[in-house]
Amino acid sequence: MIGVGDMVLIEPLSEDTFIENLRKRFEHNEIYTYIGSVVISMNPYKSLPIYTAEKVEEYRNRNFYELSPHIYALADEAYRSLRDQDKDQCILITGESGAGKTEASKFVMSYVAAVCGKGQEVNKVKEQLLQSNPVLEAFGNAKTVRNDNSSRFGKYMDIEFDFKGDPLGGVISNYLLEKSRVVKQPRGERNFHIFYQLLSGASDDTLKKLKLDRDFSKYNYLSLDSATVNGLDDAACFRTVRNAMQIVGFMEDEVQSVLELVAAVLKLGNLEFKPESRCNGFDESRIKDKNDLKEMCELLGIEQSVLERAFSFRTVEAKMEKVSTTLNVAQAQTKSRKKVMGVLDIYGFEIFEDNSFEQFIINYCNEKLQQIFIELTLREEQEEYIREGIEWTNIEYFNNAIICDLIENNKNGILAMLDEECLRPGTVTDETFLDKLNTVCAEHQHFESRQSKNSKFLTDHSLPHNCFRIQHYAGKVLYRVEGFVDKNNDLLYRDLSQAMYKANHSLIKILFPEGNPAKVNLKRPLTAGFQFRASVGTLMKNLLTKNPNYIRCIKPNDKKAAHIFTDSLVCHQVRYLGLMENVRVRRAGYAFRQAYEPCLERYKMLCKQTWPHWKGPAREGVEVLLKNLQVPAEEFAYGRSKIFIRNPRTLFFLEEKRRQC
Ligand code: ADP
Ligand code: MG
Repeated sequence: MIGVGDMVLIEPLSEDTFIENLRKRFEHNEIYTYIGSVVISMNPYKSLPIYTAEKVEEYRNRNFYELSPHIYALADEAYRSLRDQDKDQCILITGESGAGKTEASKFVMSYVAAVCGKGQEVNKVKEQLLQSNPVLEAFGNAKTVRNDNSSRFGKYMDIEFDFKGDPLGGVISNYLLEKSRVVKQPRGERNFHIFYQLLSGASDDTLKKLKLDRDFSKYNYLSLDSATVNGLDDAACFRTVRNAMQIVGFMEDEVQSVLELVAAVLKLGNLEFKPESRCNGFDESRIKDKNDLKEMCELLGIEQSVLERAFSFRTVEAKMEKVSTTLNVAQAQTKSRKKVMGVLDIYGFEIFEDNSFEQFIINYCNEKLQQIFIELTLREEQEEYIREGIEWTNIEYFNNAIICDLIENNKNGILAMLDEECLRPGTVTDETFLDKLNTVCAEHQHFESRQSKNSKFLTDHSLPHNCFRIQHYAGKVLYRVEGFVDKNNDLLYRDLSQAMYKANHSLIKILFPEGNPAKVNLKRPLTAGFQFRASVGTLMKNLLTKNPNYIRCIKPNDKKAAHIFTDSLVCHQVRYLGLMENVRVRRAGYAFRQAYEPCLERYKMLCKQTWPHWKGPAREGVEVLLKNLQVPAEEFAYGRSKIFIRNPRTLFFLEEKRRQC
């Protein structure tokens, strides 16, 4: 074993030894390390031969502690508890952009697919589950500065199994797709993969039907400075995606509609508006070159005059460039009697130089996930000891509930303040929103802003204007309020949705149901913040009903490079993922525990008195067994219903004995 496989066993424990252990293991391609049952995963930025069919066999049906740390051990444990103990599972994958979350989610899915059920029908379901990835990635991933294949949405997938543990299908929920990327990409980044894939990989014939040119430079939405990505073959990806769409169940005409839509978006990006003053005092915008408009209308089956009219309101034109991020949540519906394994792959904490509404929302979601982690890992751990009557010295840990409350409190939380401001009559601006925050949140320990003069706490007069700062559990983040009001409103003007609804195109009609004139809803649409808070709430409820499994992904460097391990960068992630606290809680206690019955069942063969049957209570059987094996008494604690084992090494010892039997 290189270094220490389980951080619980590090001696002495400090941030330095923790990071040194990660480094040592990383340098030997040991990218996985445990903290008890939590898997830490370091991105190797190179392909390692550790995901083969042989590896799958190696980890299959083995106990978590028997083999060296691997994501497959976690996947196996989760799948078996689901199948044999009927406990719904969730796999929570967190880490910053480029840390390896999406790859990890794919390894988990492919492992589960490899070990569960067999047969033609089952194989078809598995194939569909796996092939959902290329489709989602084509439309939801893009090259960014941090990651050449960065997911621009959060994903939660419930994989459903029948009573035997065979897969039945899956339900995917998406969160917070970064829609604004369609219109504008930061320097050195690309638009969503599908645009480049389509232009590179489609046949001449297809492109002609879609009225497209193969040349990226013909389209405003396709940034030119970084249109190709090293090592990425867009044309080959297009074939993969086409094939995947078919496997997932798209009919040929549906694929066609989707591609027409993609083409129409490219045309839309080429429309140029020129303002024209009208005698009534309003500006109207006129479309300069009508050819793209004409082709777009042909693709979507919209009458040109209808769309032109919808476009030519000043307000609409202003909004066209400001597509903002909202959410699109199909709620995972877990029907009874199915066993469910949820896999969550969502952006980690984001701290940029310029943080806006999007970062605010993402970081809020991460605060909530940290709550789950605290609830389930730290608090549960302590409470279990109390329940089991085992002595416990209290561990201090930071509970971030107070930050969640600052953001989501119904009365005076930041999101509620933002909604109140958005709905208020009169002139509403980002500044009036900030003023409101300053009066309402000024006294909050985790809130700082320049204007909050009255605050007794962290007021920092060096803050830039129009900003507020939140002290998140992962660190301080400065948010610029510009755009908060607009993005929260996320209005799409009714004229436009009505124009789209009139399209003679099967897909686009479905996408704009609110444009149906028969269903005009005069109520204000829900704000983006409100919807997100609701969907996070639903997600959290869902996760809390499941047994959690954690994968904490860490990025070794900022260069997307193999073999480089930057201490400071890793240290930062270790801190905000709360990993040190996690080890401390584990170490303060017992690394492993099991109810007496299954424990006796598993190890009774190791002792004459307990084999083949033990007549008395299971607890006494376990006592006899351990005495007989001469395991030192301090290694154990007898709880009310469970045996607690202090050190994983003791478990290795038992497993080894069992193998020799
Ligand atoms: P995230 O989803 O956390 O933003 P990804 O999972 O997309 O990050 O990983 C970013 C890139 O890092 C991948 O495209 C791949 O090149 C590399 N990578 C991540 N995990 C692994 C791994 N286990 N083995 C090899 N390469 C990996
Ligand atoms: Mg990702």
